[in-house]
Parts: sequence; structure tokens; C-alpha cells
Amino acid sequence: PGPPAVEALQHADVAALLPVPAPESDKYRRGVVGVVAGSARYPGAAVLAVAGALRGGAGAVRYVGPAADDVVRRFPETLVHTGPPSKAGRVQAWVVGPGLGDTPEAHQAVQDVLRSGVPVLVDADGLALLKSLLASGSAEPAGPLLLTPHAGEAAVLLDTSRELVEASRLEHVRRLAERYRATALLKGSTTLVAHTGAPVRVNSTGTGWLGTAGSGDVLSGLAGSLLAGGLEPRDAGSVAAYLHGLAGRLAAGPTGSPITAPDIAEALPAVWIDVR
Ligand code: AMP
Ligand code: MG
Repeated sequence: PGPPAVEALQHADVAALLPVPAPESDKYRRGVVGVVAGSARYPGAAVLAVAGALRGGAGAVRYVGPAADDVVRRFPETLVHTGPPSKAGRVQAWVVGPGLGDTPEAHQAVQDVLRSGVPVLVDADGLALLKSLLASGSAEPAGPLLLTPHAGEAAVLLDTSRELVEASRLEHVRRLAERYRATALLKGSTTLVAHTGAPVRVNSTGTGWLGTAGSGDVLSGLAGSLLAGGLEPRDAGSVAAYLHGLAGRLAAGPTGSPITAPDIAEALPAVWIDVR
């Protein structure tokens, strides 16, 4: 028999993959993650993606976009920039898309990060922008791509319906990886991470309470932070899904209570310790 079609990360696998700061480590060596997210309509998506990124082990988070005031008010440690991403300074991985909208500036920003050559995580509104840029030939991703759609977004990327994606998730996540020459992370009650040529990683550490507004924005920031820390896209995506699920469970507590997206971000340090 060939290699298994699917696999699940175990606790020890995650512990071995998590970045550990060396004694001589500093914020630049730990990696800077850039976040391009938010809009006048959805400033909160920017704040939540930054919240996830700050908890993911990167040495610094650089935010680029129109929600800089909201981001800094909530997280004064964020470096902010209002020009295009290409002028923002050193970044080891980009997260682009949560709450970004569909403006000409958003298009330009996606194009900009795709050209950077560093790993790029594309989520939410960024996914439709990526699709249209690729279709018009106006973007050629220069570095590794990690796409993090939920079923509805995956359906748009694959020109199919959400129902068909939900009916055969494994097949569709593989198709996403092939069609976009990317690592594809399909969200839902379980999370599947596909990378062509490797077994699909399945994560089921979560709880139904993770299906709450802004939850995916925290995940994308977290995964981007791990990318900036040097994890391969397949590892960054599956480790992020693992920790995000545990954080949701921890936040829900022994009573299994409802949680909010900031609760997930705030629970991340505790599950990180739990993994060691
Ligand atoms: P988004 O739809 O972008 O906000 O992302 C939602 C996040 O919550 C993803 O990480 C999903 O995998 C997770 N999620 C949503 N519903 C469930 C569920 N029923 N069980 C476990 N995780 C879920
Ligand atoms: Mg989302």
C-alpha cells in the first residue's frame, strides 16, 4: 500500500513543530508577520487577525490597511503602515484578506504581497481577489501560498456550490491545492489541510462554539505568525488549526459555554504551554 491518504497531528508532533526562541533570539529572528486586513466596514477583522498573529510566536506584527487606529488602540505593540504593503518594511510572511473588502486598494494590496516572494496566507475577501487576479493574469505568486477558505469560499474558488464542497470535502480540498498550486486549508467542523503529494492533515481538536464571528480571522493571524516563524505552509496551517481548536475548547471551559473570537486569541498562550 502507498502512503496514507489522511493523517492527524498528535500532541507530540505539534510540540516538536512549535517554534522555540533560541537564547540569542530577538524579535527579527523570530519573524515579522504582516497583516493586510480590515476596511471601513469591517475594522474588527483586522483587530482579530492581529490578535491571532500576536499570539503565534512572531517577534512583531506589522499591520497595513485602513483600520490602523482601531488596531493600535487595542494592540499598541503593533507596527502600523498606511501605504502599500511593498513599502511597509521587512516582513517574513503575509496574511491578507480578513474583512478586506473589494476596493481597488484591496486588489493592489493582494497583488503587492503576492509579488513579495515571502509566504502568503490568503483568507476571506482576499480569496476572491486572488482568484480574479489569477484569472486576469495580473498576479503570479512569487512565494508559497496558504489558502484558508471555509466551504462557501472554497466553492467560489472552485466554481462550484457550497453543498458540493460539503458533500466531499476531502476531494475538494485536494482540488484547491492542485488548481491554485497552493497549500489549502478547508475550515469547518473538522479542518483539512492539503498539499499536493502529501497526506491530507485532518484536525478535529475544535468545538462547535468555534463557529462564531471573527473566529477564522484569529486562525489566519495565528497561521501567518507560524509561517513567519519558519514553518512550512502545511505545518503552519495544521498546527494553527490544532491550537485554535484547543483554545476554543479551553475558552468554552468545563461548562462548554459560548465563546467569542477574542476569547480564542486570549486562550492561545495556555494551550501553547499545554502542548509542551
Ligand atoms: P470562519 O468561517 O472564517 O469564521 O472560520 C470559522 C472557524 O471556526 C474555522 O477555524 C472553523 O474550522 C471553526 N469552526 C466552525 N464551525 C465549527 C464546528 N462546528 N466545529 C469545530 N470548528 C468549527
Ligand atoms: Mg472567515
